[in-house]
Amino acid sequence: MSIDLTQLKQGKRRTLAKAITLVESTLECHREQAQDLLNSILPETGKSLRIGVSGVPGVGKSTFIEAFGQHLISQGKKLAVLAVDPSSPLRGGSILGDKTRMEYLSREPNAFIRPSPSAGALGGVALKTRETMLLCEAAGYDVILVETVGVGQSEYDVASMVDFFMVLMLPNAGDDLQGIKRGIMELADGLVINKCDGDHKLAAEQSKQHYQNAFHLLKHDDFWTPPILTCSSLENSGIEDIWIMLEGYQEKSRSTLLRPENGQSKSAFDNKRAKQNSEWLRSLVHDMLERKLYQNPDVKTALPKLKNAVLQNEMTPYSAAKAIIDLLD
Ligand code: GDP
Repeated sequence: MSIDLTQLKQGKRRTLAKAITLVESTLECHREQAQDLLNSILPETGKSLRIGVSGVPGVGKSTFIEAFGQHLISQGKKLAVLAVDPSSPLRGGSILGDKTRMEYLSREPNAFIRPSPSAGALGGVALKTRETMLLCEAAGYDVILVETVGVGQSEYDVASMVDFFMVLMLPNAGDDLQGIKRGIMELADGLVINKCDGDHKLAAEQSKQHYQNAFHLLKHDDFWTPPILTCSSLENSGIEDIWIMLEGYQEKSRSTLLRPENGQSKSAFDNKRAKQNSEWLRSLVHDMLERKLYQNPDVKTALPKLKNAVLQNEMTPYSAAKAIIDLLD
């Protein structure tokens, strides 16, 4: 598969789509080619604002992205929307990648929408999305939205690849604060209560107060306290304020200089990306080692016996694990 670098950098959508297909491919030969491509575009990457959008199904993520995306495009931005959907089946039919969603954006020349890659590849869906994000940046997209369903691991994955992690919430006046997932509160750089319209308006305002109280309980960066905003994606209200908030975050995190490490002083923005990159490296090394371990013929032979010995209470799990690792020496 040959990718025309010039066309990719010019933002040709067909070339970008082809490059993403290459990156998503599970074939070993494509993997190498994809890495060559990614290494060659690295200098062109990193210039976008990366935003995670999370929330339970039905909260209004696609309606929000449609409204928010139109606002960004009216501001002259180029927008890429990527999805991390761990529940997506191998072929099509993903909850998030559904073609009928985001009808306006899908026709807009300055928007690029890519459904979730299929699971099963090395590093999983999240790795593909990270790499796809780099391709979109090289193709000149200024804002990358990474959408995910508000469940489990995918939220952590997305929070660890974006500059700002936004959680959409439903208005619910009777919200029991115990019911808010603590994990979400720790990940969110901002909460947006959607559906603040019609009969939901009062409930949305009350939820805002509830969440505001809960936020005080948590620790945040020195330069940023996660705001709680309300909007109606359906009526297109409050959308502009969300972009103003995001720009505010970007400005503050870029201008906040952290104490120098190794004589180098970094902005909070760059520091977060650097940490994400080293964490990405660590988790890839981990995945590759594990894969290599289980492909080792000696390990393949020994594993069932050792497993059995543990199950029969003849060996501790520690000794069995050590015996497996020793096979690699
Ligand atoms: P997703 O599953 O999170 O992507 O949610 P959708 O965007 O598909 O929206 C789920 C339902 O909520 C749809 O029926 C939308 O029309 C509705 N919805 C989305 N945003 C709003 C909003 O701001 N106000 C109201 N009243 N309904 C909304």
